[in-house]
Amino acid sequence: MKTIVWFRQDLRLHNHPALKEASECGDVLPVFILPDHSSPTAADWWLSQSLLGLQQQLAELGNSLLVVKGSPADVLCKIAQETNADALFFNGQIDPVSRRAETSLLENLNCTSLDIRRFPPDMLLDPDTLKTGAGQPYKVFGAFWKSLQQQTIPWPIAAPTSLSCWIAEYSEMIPLEKSGLRSSLGWDKTIEETWTPGETESFERWAHFRDQILNKYVMLRDYPGIDGTSKLSGFLASGNMSIRGLWHAVYRAQQEGDAAQPEPFLRQLAWREFSYYQLFHFPDIVNQPLRKEFLNFPWSDDSESLTAWKEGKTGYPLVDAGMRELWQTGTMHNRVRMVAASFLVKHLLIDWRIGAQWFQETLVDYDIANNTLGWQWVAGSGFDAAPYFRIFNPTTQSKKFDEHGVYIRKWLPELAALPDKHLYEPQAAPKEVLEEADIVLGVTYPFPIVDHATARKRALDAYALIKGEK
Ligand code: FAD
Repeated sequence: MKTIVWFRQDLRLHNHPALKEASECGDVLPVFILPDHSSPTAADWWLSQSLLGLQQQLAELGNSLLVVKGSPADVLCKIAQETNADALFFNGQIDPVSRRAETSLLENLNCTSLDIRRFPPDMLLDPDTLKTGAGQPYKVFGAFWKSLQQQTIPWPIAAPTSLSCWIAEYSEMIPLEKSGLRSSLGWDKTIEETWTPGETESFERWAHFRDQILNKYVMLRDYPGIDGTSKLSGFLASGNMSIRGLWHAVYRAQQEGDAAQPEPFLRQLAWREFSYYQLFHFPDIVNQPLRKEFLNFPWSDDSESLTAWKEGKTGYPLVDAGMRELWQTGTMHNRVRMVAASFLVKHLLIDWRIGAQWFQETLVDYDIANNTLGWQWVAGSGFDAAPYFRIFNPTTQSKKFDEHGVYIRKWLPELAALPDKHLYEPQAAPKEVLEEADIVLGVTYPFPIVDHATARKRALDAYALIKGEK
């Protein structure tokens, strides 16, 4: 049999059910369809590098990747006809846009004799497996996690060992250098210095995490100045690494004595599963708050403050350090993501969807499920979200989680010479301390764009309004 395998957010060879099945049925033609948007995002840069890596892996197996552009239904139909393919296999995705593309593909190609098969998406379990006693999707993480722990997660599938193809060339193939996934402005240069995407690198990163961090993860994971998390999110988001593969690798590490306490890390992987699960069952959440009272939230359209937030110039050092880290590396530590996102939504009263959009443009690990749920959690509009009235204080958060200012000094070199005591609130430092540190407030570092206590009260008043208490 001659099978086209449509690669999507699964840029790897291991645990790729569609590829494995196709390789066992005969010849394989791997195809990737480029995303259709005008300005490349940070995740597009990751994608471009992942495609190069995948191309190399396929070449080692005697095959190659066909990169094309267009709507999936049209492009895949055309390739199938021109290459005389017998079958089309792909792994499903759970986000609304991908699901629509799958439906359109199945409807359009229904008339052909092509054997079309959709394989399971990259989740620990099929999203229809876990339900409450009443047969409804879980809305609370604790109950979901308890239920997940009682399940057996299927083993990942091994990578194919050979992959023969029946065509050598295709007329509409796009060379990767012309994919348009890299920014012509070169802003991805600093991101490039931070990351090496691809399946091979994902295994190396996992091995480093397993050997150096996993056993201390629970103690380290909240401190942005420490190398205390896996940094696997970009690999998971692009599908360089599969979630089932990672889950079982953690168990293997435990059996082999390399992981005494894997639960805290598995719990974070379960948060990823919960995000995917919620997006599958409630696809509107990308644009709509899960809690309907938030539909009437009085959002602000203060564009000046939004720009200050994006540029890391709010005058709150932890928020600014996070936003600068994001711009320069395409990532941000989870603790800081929560604080910076909360600052936008609660201190500035700017709609979480605007923040989510900025993260979509700038994160290398952008993942529609994790990002949407992360923002809804912070905004208080998700089912199992942080209560709206619990408002992060960026100053106390930085004192607690960046006690010696390692993180802030790294990303805000203009504050580096301030003693710890004044690092978190430069505006409160005595004049001579600022002079000594070569800081001119309002020139080299901004005054806070909002006062914490005033902003907190304003946010609580806005919340009272939608709750009908005012
Ligand atoms: P680790 O702590 O090592 O965790 C391992 C893996 O578990 C992560 O790679 C990720 O896949 C998953 N995970 C960890 N924490 C969470 C979480 N809170 N929710 C869901 N999955 C989690 N994560 C993304 O992958 N893409 C995003 O676009 C994204 N946007 C976010 C936006 C906001 C506002 C917030 C608060 C969080 C967001 N997260 C997102 C979740 C989290 O911040 C990142 O997954 C984490 O920082 C990645 O670093 P790591 O791989 O070292 O994580």
